[in-house]
Amino acid sequence: MSETFLSELTGSFSTPSGGNPTVAMVEAAYKHHKLNFRYINCEVQPKDLANAVLGARAMNWAGFNLSIPHKVSVIQYLDGLGQSAQIMGAVNCVVNRDGKLIGENTDGKGFLQAFKKVDSPSGKKIAILGAGGAARAIAVELALDGAKDFMIINRDEKRGQDLVSLLKTKLQVSAQFVAWSAKFKIPDSIDVLINATSVGMADSGSYDLDIDHTSIKKTMIVADVIVNPPQTNLLKSASSIGAKTIDGLGMVVNQAVIGVKYWTNFDVEPTIMHAELQRVLKL
Ligand code: NDP
Repeated sequence: MSETFLSELTGSFSTPSGGNPTVAMVEAAYKHHKLNFRYINCEVQPKDLANAVLGARAMNWAGFNLSIPHKVSVIQYLDGLGQSAQIMGAVNCVVNRDGKLIGENTDGKGFLQAFKKVDSPSGKKIAILGAGGAARAIAVELALDGAKDFMIINRDEKRGQDLVSLLKTKLQVSAQFVAWSAKFKIPDSIDVLINATSVGMADSGSYDLDIDHTSIKKTMIVADVIVNPPQTNLLKSASSIGAKTIDGLGMVVNQAVIGVKYWTNFDVEPTIMHAELQRVLKL
């Protein structure tokens, strides 16, 4: 075959974008598998998002990720939405399908894949701390995969109630909002506890969730969305009593694997991305 000097383009639009390690993971996978694709991390302000999407269209990009603050506002510039993105009203991955830009959401799908290595969501009673983008994505995918009973614990009541009503009306599952009170006790009936807040992130300044750690039971599965550090105080305390834990690295690697599959139709090796993420974040 003759040499081509033209690569397929993919990337990410966000601001601030400098701390986003996805580019390192994805480029490592492209290189390892000799895929003729490139991933470019782009700093895009909200006022420039429409033009950034037009630019991607003009250059026939294979697709792109969206991160803060564009996951909702990008929808108006797209040609259609996948099922879970439609339900969530948020897109983190756009795929060029025969010239049409279709919005998908891979955050929750990445979590679900990591979760299914440990157990099935079916029939589980799930408590989610937080009700922001990550919580919505996780709750919707778990419900689409058979989870039927949710407790959403959040400080801001409106955000919590919005997620509860989304789960009830669009996914017909049982869901309850609980206002976050000090030293929150996780009810004994909970099978799966998920931290989907930003508490625990290295640069968030707050590492300890305001929960009663003694209320975590050995029989619970405890998951955290925080990528850095992967062993949050929540996960440390859960594993110290023998509970099964799931860290945020699996979620972030899986969502990148799913995105690359959408763009290239190729199944990349997750361990390549995992190792590169650990290398660049010095984990
Ligand atoms: P959002 O801003 O949409 O939501 C943040 C949530 O955290 C809200 O529910 C907020 O509560 C809650 N929260 C923030 N601070 C506190 C606190 N001190 N105590 C209790 N609750 C708090 O953010 P995202 O949902 O997009 O992201 C949340 C986290 O998930 C981030 O750390 C992000 O990096 C991570 N993430 C990880 C992914 C992965 O692949 N591993 C993918 C996507 C996100 P309130 O509504 O009351 O303000």
